[in-house]
Amino acid sequence: MAKVKYYYDSKTLSYKKVEKTLRKRIFKAILFLFAGALFMILGFFIIGIFLDSPRQKYLQRELEFVKLNEQLHNKKIKQLETILKEIEERDNNIYRLFFEVNPITEEQRKSGLGGVNRYKNLQGYDNSEIVLDVTKNIDLLSKRLYIQSKSLDEILKLAENKEKLLAAIPAIQPVKKEDMTRMASGYGRRKDPFNKAWKMHWGMDFTAPKGTPVYASGDGIVARADNKSSGYGNHIRVNHGFGYISLYAHLSKYNVRKGQRVKRGDLIGFVGSTGRSTGPHLHYEIHKNGKKIDPINFYYGNLSPEEFAVLQKAAEQKGQSLD
Ligand SMILES: [Zn+2]
Repeated sequence: MAKVKYYYDSKTLSYKKVEKTLRKRIFKAILFLFAGALFMILGFFIIGIFLDSPRQKYLQRELEFVKLNEQLHNKKIKQLETILKEIEERDNNIYRLFFEVNPITEEQRKSGLGGVNRYKNLQGYDNSEIVLDVTKNIDLLSKRLYIQSKSLDEILKLAENKEKLLAAIPAIQPVKKEDMTRMASGYGRRKDPFNKAWKMHWGMDFTAPKGTPVYASGDGIVARADNKSSGYGNHIRVNHGFGYISLYAHLSKYNVRKGQRVKRGDLIGFVGSTGRSTGPHLHYEIHKNGKKIDPINFYYGNLSPEEFAVLQKAAEQKGQSLD
């Protein structure tokens, strides 16, 4: 029950009832409600300053967890960077050096991350710094790994090629040293055995009895096995690729045909004295890109340094060739 209020009317000298209008009542009620709400908000606010709500506590914990993990991730990224750096150095200083390709510079390995701001959406937060750091480091690491893997692909290709080149290059003596009577003449100016005039001898002569096996000095394809080249008699040319051709002349017999694929050490023919020759011997030439070069530098395949020295000395003797 609402209290009834009175007031003293000095004109009538009596108490009169205070009549409240509806408007006044509503106004009062609203005022009351407002004040209540204001106090409540103020109360929550004050409590909030000194006490975290359960949700705040939860978010705080989440944030700390994320921050800690970001730091751990950054540390792991740094470790990976160290490992990658070692691989990059090995790549530049060993692999690429060995295969004679230019090292990849530091700028090339780390390039391509500038330009437009690719981290725009990560900015503007309180913890942008940490997230940016990790993201940038991961991006850089990915980029470097990509370049490194490309480099290794290149090295692999070069290695395969080098292996083929090493197998192809004419690198052994075409007549076994135990079968050889002697090395008769080397590459250089020698006396022509027929007219005794000094002229260039474009190969090496190995004297050996007729029928002595002749071996391919490297992998390749038999380009010719015929006697249609003046002076060489029955001769074989093996194309090794990479610009190399080896030539075996004055043979008595062939053991291969044109177009046949041969491996280093395969028996391809037999020593003879066909063509322009003064006695059974193998005349051996190496051509590189169409030029006849000195075969003496190509026997590392099956000669010891001592044997090579003996061979070299014999090859230098300025006698006459057997042609
Ligand atoms: Zn010769």
